[in-house]
Amino acid sequence: MALIVQKFGGSSVADAERVRHVAEIVTRTYDQGNDVIVVVSAQGDTTDDLIEKAKEINPNPSKREMDMLLSTGEQISISLLAMAIEKLGYPVISLTGWQIGMKTNSKYSNARIRLCDTERLQSELDKRKIIIVAGFQGINKYDDITTLGRGGSDTTAVAIAAVMKAQLCQIYTDVDGVYTADPRKVPTAVKLDEITFDEMLELASMGAQVLHNRSVELAKKYDVNMEVVSSFNDVPGTKVKEVVKVEKMLVRGVAKDTDVMRVTILGVVDEPGIAFKIFSTLAAKGVNVDIIIQCLAQSGKNDISFTVKQSEKEIAKAAVEGLADRITFDKISYSEDVAKVSIVGAGMVSNPGVAAQMFEALAEREINIQMISTSEIKVSVLIAEEEADRAVRAIHDMFIKN
Ligand code: ADP
Ligand code: ASP
Ligand code: MG
Repeated sequence: MALIVQKFGGSSVADAERVRHVAEIVTRTYDQGNDVIVVVSAQGDTTDDLIEKAKEINPNPSKREMDMLLSTGEQISISLLAMAIEKLGYPVISLTGWQIGMKTNSKYSNARIRLCDTERLQSELDKRKIIIVAGFQGINKYDDITTLGRGGSDTTAVAIAAVMKAQLCQIYTDVDGVYTADPRKVPTAVKLDEITFDEMLELASMGAQVLHNRSVELAKKYDVNMEVVSSFNDVPGTKVKEVVKVEKMLVRGVAKDTDVMRVTILGVVDEPGIAFKIFSTLAAKGVNVDIIIQCLAQSGKNDISFTVKQSEKEIAKAAVEGLADRITFDKISYSEDVAKVSIVGAGMVSNPGVAAQMFEALAEREINIQMISTSEIKVSVLIAEEEADRAVRAIHDMFIKN
């Protein structure tokens, strides 16, 4: 008998009909003789709606109370799905994050899983029950509810698959698998049969929403057998694994991230220790910095630009403005109308010229590049947000031929 973890995203459980459909997928898997643990997200746009509701009451609520609120979305889904499965006559139980002992750190709204207990899950499996777990939520050391960051139910599923040593972790969603670009934006995007953990991690981190990046990180660490499949169409999905069949594709995917803001500190005095002061201040406040550019100094002054998450705008601005006490500079400018477009592929490392080809695709469309960053398997550019979709299509057409 195998243990299979199946995760269903918001659109897969959006209404009664979708919930009934998921109940069928789950019970079919159970009928095949498997143990099944199901992880579900909040229905449809529930999480967004709850965020709006909170804003009506308090535009700046504490993160603890936000987590208390947002975790309710998943609690609705687990009970409804359990009722649908009950109605089909199967033994089933729904459980919240705290009931299964999903322990996280205390970073409300973006908590990391520290440990997931196995006792409760195992005892319900021993009773041959189908278990429905609320995704996206856990508890911290104070027994307070935390959430794992937007899209975090994927990570709940992989964590459970890892601790319970599941044979398979299936992430059911509203597309047929992982594509070479967002299939809703790029009609010529191609579905990938397989993708490596490293490529998927980069794609997810660079904005491909199809998987939560931490879920991929965990799957790689614990070697979870993971696949992305559709809950709408019964077709083969995409396997995410350590090694994939060698393919000729240099670029495996193009991703766009609009949760980016550029910060430029102009006229910084050119002396040792400046970069350390800037970036250690940001790090101490927990601000993630991505692309960094510093130009050669002219007349003893430098400009330093870097990108941060737009969603961390307030905290980033407060940290940067606090620098005035520690370093001398002329002024700070911010730009929110930017997006990061990235290409990812393990084959790039041994193929010079991939970046140049990406720049060619942008040059042909007269799209200006503001910043560039590269790693072994990725090239990212920062461009104007309004040009991002056009840029993704241009770059995709340059590398991925149908
Ligand atoms: P779920 O609610 O199932 O978690 P998400 O909305 O989080 O679903 O993720 C699925 C969406 O990710 C798709 O509808 C698609 O628009 C988007 N997406 C972005 N990049 C990709 C990609 N490379 N491959 C597939 N889907 C992608
Ligand atoms: N409901 C949460 C969100 O909308 C978690 C998830 O869907 O994975 O971000
Ligand atoms: Mg998701």
